[in-house]
Amino acid sequence: QAKDAGRNTYRYVTEQLNSDSLEFMRITHELREAVKCKQFTVHFQPQIELATGDVVGAEALVRWNHPVEGLIPPGRFISIAEQTGLIVEIGEWVLHEACRQAMAWRRAGMPPLLMAVNMSAVQFKRGNVENLVRGALESSGLEAQYLEIELTESILLHDMDHMLSLLNNLKDIGLKLAIDDFGTGYSSLAYLKKFKIDRLKIDQSFVRDIASDPNDAAIVRAIVQMAHTLNLRVIAEGVENQEMLHYLSSCQCDEVQGYHFAKPMPPDAFAAFILGRKSEAG
Ligand code: C2E
Ligand code: MG
Ligand code: MG
Ligand code: MG
Repeated sequence: QAKDAGRNTYRYVTEQLNSDSLEFMRITHELREAVKCKQFTVHFQPQIELATGDVVGAEALVRWNHPVEGLIPPGRFISIAEQTGLIVEIGEWVLHEACRQAMAWRRAGMPPLLMAVNMSAVQFKRGNVENLVRGALESSGLEAQYLEIELTESILLHDMDHMLSLLNNLKDIGLKLAIDDFGTGYSSLAYLKKFKIDRLKIDQSFVRDIASDPNDAAIVRAIVQMAHTLNLRVIAEGVENQEMLHYLSSCQCDEVQGYHFAKPMPPDAFAAFILGRKSEAG
């Protein structure tokens, strides 16, 4: 099936890297240098509330600013960073940078946005996420309510009791939790309700085929309905055209994110995008 093709390709690529240990070592070495020299940058993609058309959030997405190759997308290094544990330091840097940027925008007079940051399972296993979050909020001055951590379903399924207490501690700080790529894992909504999740992000693979695959269309509608009964908000990712937008609207999906509005952008371009929409609207 087409939907699995992407994931299989990805698995194939990681297996290739694993089997080709020289290549793996080369990238690991370069990645270690990159961590030391802070060769990373964060791009931001707007999240739009459907009811108002307002930009209400930004997802922070890391890129590796490679001295020779230029900007490398996360799909090419996050897996290696996870396998080597380097993701702990990269993730720390990303969270600090995202919170710092959120406050810089606020100081520049931009309306408050929810800053969404991806967090890997490895960070929960090997790092101290609670300390990290407290530190990033403290050093940036960002209020916890404007930070959202994106997790994948598999993290919750793996070590449930441990994750329950970890995530409860995070919720006590006052931040928000989102489930990324929702629908690709095996968790049920009833199960998710044990965790204090605020928002579901419907995976792009369902959104991509909304117009052509009646099953995906039905799944998306059902996810939104069930999520709302459980008081969870829903954001759809990978919204690329008017047709998708229209269908998601008809499902009462709360927010959308995708190329139809904007690709992930460097901070300046993001700020210009917000300003541009404001002057359009007003
Ligand atoms: P994700 O968290 O599910 O992020 C959404 C990805 O979809 C991003 O890719 C984004 O650029 C892309 N995207 C957004 N709108 C559209 C659209 O309309 N169409 C299509 N085809 N794609 C769209 P990106 O930036 O390459 O990131 C890929 C993945 O890398 C992320 O998926 C996330 O799992 C991971 N990642 C990115 N930054 C971080 C990070 O700081 N920490 C960790 N642990 N993972 C990260
Ligand atoms: Mg994400
Ligand atoms: Mg996602
Ligand atoms: Mg993902």
